[in-house]
Amino acid sequence: MVHEARYWEPAPDGKIRCTLCPRDCHIGEGQNGFCFIRQNRGGRLVSAGYGRTTGFAMDPVEKKPLAHFYPGSRVLSFGTAGCCLGCRFCQNWDISKARQDDRLSEDDWTPDRVVALARAHRADGLAFTYNDPIIWAEFAIDVARAAHAAGLFTVFVTSGYIGAEARADVFRHMDATNVDLKGFTEEFYAKATLSHLAPVLETLEWLARETKVWVEVTNLMIPGLNDAPDETRALSEWMVGHMGADVPLHFTAFHPDYKMMDRPRTPAATLTGARAIARAAGLRYVYTGNVHDPEGQTTYCPSCGAAVIERDWHFVRAVQLRRGACAACGTAIAGRFADGPVAPTRGIVMPLGIPSPRA
Ligand code: SF4
Repeated sequence: MVHEARYWEPAPDGKIRCTLCPRDCHIGEGQNGFCFIRQNRGGRLVSAGYGRTTGFAMDPVEKKPLAHFYPGSRVLSFGTAGCCLGCRFCQNWDISKARQDDRLSEDDWTPDRVVALARAHRADGLAFTYNDPIIWAEFAIDVARAAHAAGLFTVFVTSGYIGAEARADVFRHMDATNVDLKGFTEEFYAKATLSHLAPVLETLEWLARETKVWVEVTNLMIPGLNDAPDETRALSEWMVGHMGADVPLHFTAFHPDYKMMDRPRTPAATLTGARAIARAAGLRYVYTGNVHDPEGQTTYCPSCGAAVIERDWHFVRAVQLRRGACAACGTAIAGRFADGPVAPTRGIVMPLGIPSPRA
């Protein structure tokens, strides 16, 4: 199945200019863009990622990570191949750096078929994840439409490196997003991700100010590269000033991978220290991830300090919320919460096909 892409125009040099992300690829006949899966075929841009995936898994929403979006819910998660960034530390490089022939299913997955799979496995929602869904925006939009028609929520897990036109189209169909803010210096973005910081900040501010999408932010901390306390403070202060103090921030641990095998794992103390810096900067909900740290993974009422959602890793251990408010003092907790009680979970992770993605 060949699916013509959107977000392109003919370039004066006879190539195609892809406007989906700020990389602005000019793609010659028969060539692929940087992300591999957008291709010039006969002077038209096609999306080789449409309807083809690298596999499905049923994840807890806490694994996205989302801490304030229907805690304990089940999310059918899937991705395709390729990526619009070139992160040297990619924790999912086997699919993000795969050319479509390597890893994509031969099967055609229509939006209705994806939704039927979600319903068959009693999912509460769908997540577009594992590789950056920006590069398969057309498929994500069509699946999101079908998901909403079936009463399922939608989650977009992304770098935020997206052009303005596509951004408005995509997020109109998303209920929640987790955006990777990979560092807070242009030098880090340019050298370690082969992209730029400014477009990501623009997306984050736009999401927080201009949309109703529930937004959480993740910062993967790499020892010696983006974990300096001053950088963490600047990132946190920027979030408070440009997104608001209620946007949750997750500091997650790096493990050596892909082209960055020379760095050690992130010490838990780095994450704990970053969490303290971010809270001191004014962020109300700050978490640690990829480590066992029940205190750093619990949601506390910003008013009375009571533990309202206790977690350990992706497990929800106890919930003291009433209709989205602290059960102890009645203060509203920022986020989207079910009206009824939330039961503790076991942090289900259930691969449903090839392969079993790790993050
Ligand atoms: S989406 Fe892919 S082809 Fe388009 S500009 Fe970005 S990296 Fe290039």
